[in-house]
Amino acid sequence: MESLSSIQVTAHSDQRTAHTSSTSGDNGRPPSLHYQICNYNGIVDMTSTQSSPSNQADVCANCNVSACATLAAGDGGAVVLLKNCSACLLAKYCSVDCQRAHRSKHKTACKKRAAEQKEERLYSQGLERPEGDFCLICALPIPLPVDDHSVFNMCCMKKVCDGCAIAGQLRGMGDNCEFCRTPVPSDNEAALAMVRKRADVGDSDALDYLGWEYFYGGEHGLEKDVQRAIELWAEAADLGSMEAHFQLGNKYCSGDGVEKDKAKGIFHWQEAANKGHAQSRHKLGVVESNADNWNLALKHFLISAKMGYKCSLDAIRLMFAHGHATKAQYADALKGYQDAFEETKSPERDFARAVEAIREKIPSGWDTHS
Ligand SMILES: [Zn+2]
Ligand SMILES: [Zn+2]
Ligand SMILES: [Zn+2]
Ligand SMILES: [Zn+2]
Repeated sequence: MESLSSIQVTAHSDQRTAHTSSTSGDNGRPPSLHYQICNYNGIVDMTSTQSSPSNQADVCANCNVSACATLAAGDGGAVVLLKNCSACLLAKYCSVDCQRAHRSKHKTACKKRAAEQKEERLYSQGLERPEGDFCLICALPIPLPVDDHSVFNMCCMKKVCDGCAIAGQLRGMGDNCEFCRTPVPSDNEAALAMVRKRADVGDSDALDYLGWEYFYGGEHGLEKDVQRAIELWAEAADLGSMEAHFQLGNKYCSGDGVEKDKAKGIFHWQEAANKGHAQSRHKLGVVESNADNWNLALKHFLISAKMGYKCSLDAIRLMFAHGHATKAQYADALKGYQDAFEETKSPERDFARAVEAIREKIPSGWDTHS
């Protein structure tokens, strides 16, 4: 009988043959602090786009001073500036001292609200394919997994879909990058120099790529150095690379090359999923299904299935077969998946797929010239 553990096995391998990555989308950092400033004339001036819960009174949670009060002349006569607790955005304080004094009373509510907010963000962000998942030439979303359906060029660190790559070849682009037209580097050294140049100026895609080169070693002559790879991925992740977050998630959750730290790994998958990384979203679904949290697993799988990730659709089909999802939920996932898949189609991509199918049929060692 089909086992639910096969949900895991159906996930695509973490390794990739062609490398791509993206830095687009929300930066995933906590929202900026909310300030409310009351002017002398009593007009409230919102200086931040982050609004506070409307039922919160504009008073310091500790000393009750109002946002509309002015300080005593001895304190400079300035207006009171209330600052939200950055963890929960629930309580406001007039000073660090007040926040400190109130900490023990506020701790439980703060933790609860912060956890709720984190969960709200997790299921409401990253629902669309990110900008970096679109081909820069034909502007269509690249089928998932992106690495299996695109080529990547070290000159500009840009990816181009298989359809546009083959169309470029037919137009006689030869060994030039389909995107920036730079000639393909002549050797490993020249290729790595191109990447390092971009990494040195903080290109997160280049840092992520170097991470790959160091983690697996070999492809362009770099010696394997796992520690260096993790450092590079961490740097790339800090700069917003979804792919680097995904890799860190994979490595920390599996203990491959690093000390196993599931919480840290899940954090990285969440960061990537919040930016629209479908494979990370799928991994989070697997984590929840392994813990029998079927509702949460379904939420994750639905999001990634509707982005066009087949493994997530398969997972929902299995959940349906085992009574963990309804027929309507599976139908919803299937429709979403099909719509997303349709959006990735183009005649050039169909052609590229047909060429690939023919190539696969040619036996190895076959000499087409004889
Ligand atoms: Zn106060
Ligand atoms: Zn708080
Ligand atoms: Zn394209
Ligand atoms: Zn290029």
